[in-house]
Amino acid sequence: MIRINEHYLKLQESYLFSDIARRVEKFVQQNPERSLIKMGIGDVTRALPPACIKAFHKAVDEMASDSTFRGYGPEQGYPFLRQKIARHDFNDRGMDIEPDEIFVSDGAKCDSGNLQEIFAVDIKVAVPDPVYPVYVDTNVMAGRTGAFINGRYEGLVYLEGNRQNGFVAELPEKPVDLIYLCFPNNPTGSVIDRKGLQKWVDYAIENKALILFDAAYEAYITDDNLPHSIFEVKGAKQVAIEMRSFSKLAGFTGTRCAYTVVPKNCMAYTPDGNSIPVHKLWNRRHTTKFNSVSYPVQRAAEAVYSDEGKAQTRQLVEGYLSNARYIRQAMEELGYTCFGGSNAPYVWVDCKTDSWEFFDRLLNKAGVVCTPGVGFGLCGQGYVRLSAFNSVNNVKQAMQRIKDALS
Ligand code: PLP
Repeated sequence: MIRINEHYLKLQESYLFSDIARRVEKFVQQNPERSLIKMGIGDVTRALPPACIKAFHKAVDEMASDSTFRGYGPEQGYPFLRQKIARHDFNDRGMDIEPDEIFVSDGAKCDSGNLQEIFAVDIKVAVPDPVYPVYVDTNVMAGRTGAFINGRYEGLVYLEGNRQNGFVAELPEKPVDLIYLCFPNNPTGSVIDRKGLQKWVDYAIENKALILFDAAYEAYITDDNLPHSIFEVKGAKQVAIEMRSFSKLAGFTGTRCAYTVVPKNCMAYTPDGNSIPVHKLWNRRHTTKFNSVSYPVQRAAEAVYSDEGKAQTRQLVEGYLSNARYIRQAMEELGYTCFGGSNAPYVWVDCKTDSWEFFDRLLNKAGVVCTPGVGFGLCGQGYVRLSAFNSVNNVKQAMQRIKDALS
């Protein structure tokens, strides 16, 4: 008899997005004449930069001729892309990362979900709350948690973000082995400074723990005092893996390209305490289960590092950041305390009431869709997330509607 992985039965349905869809559908049915502006989505809205499109087209043309055609590429990514990443994202910023420490992939979602596979099932895992749900659900699937009780999984350590700590969690009180951190943060837009990040790295060194650092929103950092990478922090190469993505940097959410940095001196341990390089394990996993990103997509990603590509992606990100500033300012003018919105494309609003109650109010009175914070974890209750991924016109119109409806 074929039996299922019973850990899947512990998973909660994604009530968040299905609930949002249900409420939006009901609104549309009851108000067919009213237009809706979606400020809840975490997906980009603007086209790929011209430099990427040009490289993409050229690479597709290469596939049309036997002499330039490419079949399977190296699983870890083509050297031309890994070299550019190492140089521009790390070496030029003073970090000593080598091309063969970079694993190109089809998304930070996949990487942040898959990396847990190379660690033992009985390790203690710490996740942020509010959280990007992939970190939690993939550990549930792997059997690292107990049941879901009162909004939380037994066995996980929740790193609580709240108004007092500015949504940058404190170190856990009891030792943990695997720590998920995400800065700039989805959903709160919070950021961490070097001193704050150093505390986590020191903790990991002291406890022989490992940090999975999700830097999918790194491109949104404009403040020079903030680290762009965990590897800017002393000792991080021993205890951290970093995930990056071209999704929010260059509009690759549908095109798919990302990468993970696994330093060669980052270690994990056997039960009797022998150290094993994580790089070796991840390389084995990646080459066994993944066949690389398509050649044209890697060429399109490479173009991000050209002079035009840099200027064009900067402009793209600036546009979303300017939306974020506008949203935050408008909400603050209405008397709401906000987090994020600078160095991040999300504005996290203390809505002074139940998250869903505020969601319904914005939907019904303003025709604006947001994301209820409680959908990201218990600590998100009383907050909503507004996303800057939209056109300037939509953002302005949405904020005017919110102003008219709430003031
Ligand atoms: N990590 C975080 C924190 C995200 O918010 C997202 C997407 O919304 C991702 C990873 C996924 O990135 P990718 O498109 O590279 O899979």
